Amino acid sequence: PSTPNAEGKKVLLAAPRGYCAGVDRAVDAVEKALELYGAPVYVRKEIVHNKFVVETLSKRGAIFVTETDEVPEGARVVFSAHGVSPAVHAEAAVRQLDTIDATCPLVTKVHKEAVRFANSDYDILLIGHDGHEEVEGTQGEAPDHIQVVNGPEDVDAVEVRDPDRVIWLSQTTLSVDETMETVNLLRKKFPNLQDPPSDDICYATQNRQGAVKELSPNADVVIVVGSANSSNSVRLVEVALEAGAGAAYRVDKAEQVDLAWLEGASNVGLTSGASVPEILVREVLELLAENGFTDVETFKTATEDVFFTLPKNLRADLKAAGYEVD
Ligand code: SF4
Repeated sequence: PSTPNAEGKKVLLAAPRGYCAGVDRAVDAVEKALELYGAPVYVRKEIVHNKFVVETLSKRGAIFVTETDEVPEGARVVFSAHGVSPAVHAEAAVRQLDTIDATCPLVTKVHKEAVRFANSDYDILLIGHDGHEEVEGTQGEAPDHIQVVNGPEDVDAVEVRDPDRVIWLSQTTLSVDETMETVNLLRKKFPNLQDPPSDDICYATQNRQGAVKELSPNADVVIVVGSANSSNSVRLVEVALEAGAGAAYRVDKAEQVDLAWLEGASNVGLTSGASVPEILVREVLELLAENGFTDVETFKTATEDVFFTLPKNLRADLKAAGYEVD
């Protein structure tokens, strides 16, 4: 509930924010694996791009590795929400690893689109950030057919074999507006460019950007909770600035909020990326309240009810062990 204060200082709290269904499932998969099989459970890459989550799971016995060759032969490994290429599955099979694939089903959907259009011999223009784990995984599905387009600046250099057989796909966590700018430029160059069969930028990314867009014109400053390697969190800072926020900053946690940002501010926007536990937002809210921002107004622009069940083999093992699973 909102508590009006004399100075007119207010928090504009975005909703939806924080955990998406894919992150929830991936984190739950590691927690349940630790519970069921005991530590250690190896995890290839950060399960989700959030420092706090990775540190918390590490303390409970998860061991984070960069590649599968760091996992002892025959051990159990979880693949992160961002997805992996078929080559990684093959390496894991050679080392006889027990894999739990926590790839978000919405990333898997993009992988399937890539395979389908590569099989039909399309040139696939994958809009996304070179080097991001999700992009590496998707590209690995059809490396001969996919080229990565980072943004509008890359469009000039794009060349295709047949301009009538080109489709664009994208990373799930991009800025909706910037992606459409890139697509429009690509379409000028290739008028018969096909759109993806359905949105690749996921519901969670779109909804979090929508809420930030709504509150930013009224915000003197927007604080985004999220880690530096979290693509969707970094995009939220950009979206806030484009939508008219006076300033926007990303922090991993409350301690990183510089009180100088709040000087002279009446309205402070607050949101969090899709990999961010709500406790980190609560801590920022407490800090803001200590500094006079006791009035909290929620900007709710969408309702989310997406839920993904745990990876199949983990569910089966949990059921066999007598756990109740959704
Ligand atoms: Fe899945 Fe979207 Fe969450 Fe990524 S941000 S894990 S694609 S729901």
